[in-house]
Amino acid sequence: MAENKRRKNHKDLEVVQPGFANGVAPGFPLKQSEKDKMIDQAEEAYGKFLDALKCDWRNDPNSMETPRRVAKAYVNDLWAGRYTAMSPITSFPSDGYDGIVIERNIPLTSMCSHHHQTIKGVVHIGYIAGDGGQVIGLSKLNRIVELFGRRGAIQEQLTSAIHNAVDKVTEGNKGVIVTVVATHNCVSCRGVKHDGASMVTTKASGVFRHNTNLARKEFFDSIKINNGGHQI
Ligand SMILES: [Zn+2]
Repeated sequence: MAENKRRKNHKDLEVVQPGFANGVAPGFPLKQSEKDKMIDQAEEAYGKFLDALKCDWRNDPNSMETPRRVAKAYVNDLWAGRYTAMSPITSFPSDGYDGIVIERNIPLTSMCSHHHQTIKGVVHIGYIAGDGGQVIGLSKLNRIVELFGRRGAIQEQLTSAIHNAVDKVTEGNKGVIVTVVATHNCVSCRGVKHDGASMVTTKASGVFRHNTNLARKEFFDSIKINNGGHQI
């Protein structure tokens, strides 16, 4: 009986248009041959970028492969979420569990779309399944963070994208809350050059929206405990 209620969600997790600045590439997901071609083109273009900066990269043994390294890093890692699909997420009936589900301290590595510098931090996710609602395996929350983190975005967009995806795959939920606590390398290495400042963004829906709600309090109390030093 329960088997009949298993659901697979895949294509409806997107929050931005394909081809938009932080959206998936047109034709997503790309074939390996398409990714290989993209790496070749990006390598050539990055070599020209270094030329424009008057960097004699071709004659430095440490730099002569750098354009290719950078191109591969973007396609295979830093922006992998634009080119490589996450496998569908299976959700299951909640079977009467009506409490909050929280996963804390999901590691986040991303990149800001303003400066292409690293964003590092943690993501905390909570949700409450609805009556007859769906739950998902905890590791699926990690995979959602990876999919959207590996695109390049601003932290506000990333928080909304993760929230939207969790909301979709836990269809029928009573609420979803996502908090991202992250430091931005663009703040510490350029511009104001300040270390240690972290940015906290929260997107909440359903029962988590209101400050007086106990579920919201339970979530914030929970992530203050054992949260890897990221107090909020
Ligand atoms: Zn930035």
